[in-house]
Amino acid sequence: MLRRRIPISSMTSPKTPTTALRISPGRTHHRSSLTSCALLREGNLQSFIWALQVFLNFMNRKAPQTVLTDQNMHLKEAVQKELPNTKHALSIGLIASRFPSWFNAVLGRHYNDWENEFYRLHNMESTMDFDLGWSDMVSCYGLHGNRHIASLFASRKLWASPYLRGHFLAGLAALPGISKIKDFIQRLLSAQTCLSRLIEQVAVVVDYKDQAGEQQIAQQNSENTILKTAAPVEGHAAAVFTPYAFYELQDELVEAAHYAYFHLEGNAFLVRHHTKTDGGCNVTWNQKEELISCSCQMFESSGILCRHALRVLTTLNYFQIPDHYLPVRWHRTQPQPSKSLIGGPDHGRSYERVKALQSMVSVLVSEAGKSEERMDLATQEVSVLLSRIRQQPVVPNVSGDSVRRQR
Ligand SMILES: [Zn+2]
Repeated sequence: MLRRRIPISSMTSPKTPTTALRISPGRTHHRSSLTSCALLREGNLQSFIWALQVFLNFMNRKAPQTVLTDQNMHLKEAVQKELPNTKHALSIGLIASRFPSWFNAVLGRHYNDWENEFYRLHNMESTMDFDLGWSDMVSCYGLHGNRHIASLFASRKLWASPYLRGHFLAGLAALPGISKIKDFIQRLLSAQTCLSRLIEQVAVVVDYKDQAGEQQIAQQNSENTILKTAAPVEGHAAAVFTPYAFYELQDELVEAAHYAYFHLEGNAFLVRHHTKTDGGCNVTWNQKEELISCSCQMFESSGILCRHALRVLTTLNYFQIPDHYLPVRWHRTQPQPSKSLIGGPDHGRSYERVKALQSMVSVLVSEAGKSEERMDLATQEVSVLLSRIRQQPVVPNVSGDSVRRQR
């Protein structure tokens, strides 16, 4: 999974020649993760090349499929040189965070309308429609000659959705968390904090993300997920997916109900919004292999099946999502039960007991997270419990029954 794509950001302090390069495998399972961070003395090409080489060595020289960066030109060049087979994309979340400073003064009271138009274009399906729409937008808002607009258009193949279709980004391009982490580290750099302090603070960010993800999972475990459709596929997704992936798929499933499907010939279908009379997406279904593909390429980009494919699957009486479309990345974390329980003669029963314990622990974390006092109490009590458990003798390959007899 680490090979799929990584977001990389460069942050240069205005006061010092120091640049922080953040490298992260991005979103795995239920959270965005920050796994590495390099502090470079200079933000030049050689420094970025060095950082990427070190990163590749950490990854056993396995290059990622996609990298997501900010607009640093040296970083762009370093990616081209060191990761020649990797798709380079720019984070629209990071780009858009600069819009107010670029366009607020120029557009004045029209800024919000322009921003809505920008995102409409960004989410268009075809590159031709995007280019035509961009030209109209520039004319409509009188942005001819604006250097930011010219630069955005010149680099559109790196950030505009129609140009990135089919490249796996896992929904990270627009993730607000990326710019939040960037802002956080930027604040530390501008305060000229020493390296050890930076490392401490990065650890705090990592811990914070982990807690948030765990609490979200615990919440999903302890509460009934609200289903919005009567489709069994939705229940299947709720049981398998992380909260993020489930809600993304749920949105697509809800939208799927507004789409009509037309059987063209053989395994080909056309899926179109019920209000449209032309256009639509072409879906191909291979029943033998249980493979489905859609011309919108949403699954290839995000790892979530699109509304068009879901419309066809539902029509074909599929009540579960085929295995190919349940990426391990989006599975809820399922820690394996202890090997000593797996090997026992009552393996199935032991496994159920382990799952029940996992569920209780999830609820514990969820409840503890609601206040400082609860968290203190839970931490204190669990520490005591853990040391008592560690004092118990371990008997290998015990069954569920023998575990109970030891009590
Ligand atoms: Zn589609």
